Amino acid sequence: MTLTDILPSLRTSIPPRLEPGIWPVTAHPASGRDVVIGAVRLTEIVRKYRTPTYVLDEEDVRSRCRAYRHAFYEGEVAYAGKAFLNRAMAHWVDDEALSLDVCSAGELAVAASVDFPADRIILHGNVKTPKDLDVAMGYGVGRIVLDSLTEIPRIAAWTGIRQRVLIRVTPNVDIGGLAAVTTGVNDQKFGLPLADGIALEAARRVIVQPGLELTGLHCHLGSQVAESHVYEVAVTRLMDLVAEIRQRYGVSLGELNIGGGHAIPYQAGDEAMDIVSLADRLRWLVRDRSRALRIPAPRITVEPGRAIVGRSMVAAYRINTIKRTPGGRTFVALDGGMSDNIRPALYGAHYLVRMVGRPTTAPDEIVTVVGRHCEAGDVLARDVPLPADLRPGDILAMPAAGAYQLSMASNYNGALRPAVVAVHGGMARVVTRRETEEDLLARDIAL
Ligand SMILES: *Cc1c(COP(=O)(O)O)cnc(C)c1O
Repeated sequence: MTLTDILPSLRTSIPPRLEPGIWPVTAHPASGRDVVIGAVRLTEIVRKYRTPTYVLDEEDVRSRCRAYRHAFYEGEVAYAGKAFLNRAMAHWVDDEALSLDVCSAGELAVAASVDFPADRIILHGNVKTPKDLDVAMGYGVGRIVLDSLTEIPRIAAWTGIRQRVLIRVTPNVDIGGLAAVTTGVNDQKFGLPLADGIALEAARRVIVQPGLELTGLHCHLGSQVAESHVYEVAVTRLMDLVAEIRQRYGVSLGELNIGGGHAIPYQAGDEAMDIVSLADRLRWLVRDRSRALRIPAPRITVEPGRAIVGRSMVAAYRINTIKRTPGGRTFVALDGGMSDNIRPALYGAHYLVRMVGRPTTAPDEIVTVVGRHCEAGDVLARDVPLPADLRPGDILAMPAAGAYQLSMASNYNGALRPAVVAVHGGMARVVTRRETEEDLLARDIAL
């Protein structure tokens, strides 16, 4: 029993605390059960910009970029744009001296629109269309990560330039997570396996191409990894291959890009990757192994996406209806859903939900928070505690909404994709405007 259980009236005066490590760095609770982010009240943002709106804390993004640069001071940090990319984001990432991963001409267009330096851009993807390659090589991207043998002669033959490339290796390291986000094992579509000498053969084919310069190896193990051990295993395996390539072909590779996948917490008790300890361990391992293998120590590149942007956003919705079923379940339905957050439906992801903007003394009740879409699977949070006096019109906030939500958003059911409102030092501004019906009609050609 807590003090607020004994004295319910305290609940109105003491705003419930925010779960540590899950909300943006500048977020704190305020009177009226409000949440302040970037020194702006969430209720004020919702009143002005309506719902659903994604509130983006600039300081959160910048501080995570700095923490990575600090931890990996000898290496390189590339933000994986697929987690979330708009011009504001690309600008901040550039400003904080990170590199940028893109995987299409579309993502590259966003980067190019803010003049992101080409030499700090890395092109990824298991499918790079002729257009992707034209745009990327026209822009002069620093590195292209090769994902198949088919790509080698194709990229080598592209125009007159000598393109720097990495080979994406499949080190067969299992992160023990969901199959949908496990990308370092042999039985999935990405990369060239170490097994059967396939990655070594890829290196040979790249080295003999005058149009290509092999600068290093790449791997990406998967997502939501909290354990540094799997990266150590991958680095050990990649370094053995670096030594073998040097011995056979006399080529020294200067870079090991070990991808992203660093875990962030979504709920209390979830584990996060400790990036300082990861960086330290990898530094020691690379020193140790390069001495043992008698090769120059390669530089480490990491590619965090979620760990940079995941905690920077809070999704704000309004409750539209509340329904109690005979089975005893209460469904709280919002004005967004799987069109702006597919992760619960796609991966069974779990989220925290908080009622914001109205004091209450009601005890919590277990409810299921659902969206507005025509699918029974359109559930945002199953069996979560919310105040029992919840009513239509109340605001619900979901933290850790920055990664793989808006970048996977759709227009399902004609939903309009939400606005992104950036906050910083008491100022709020729209950095991606809400979609309109005109946007939907703009690419639909009338008969
Ligand atoms: C998705 C991806 C990342 C980023 O993954 P996070 O889990 O967001 O850190 C990095 N590198 C590559 C090649 C990826 O495909």
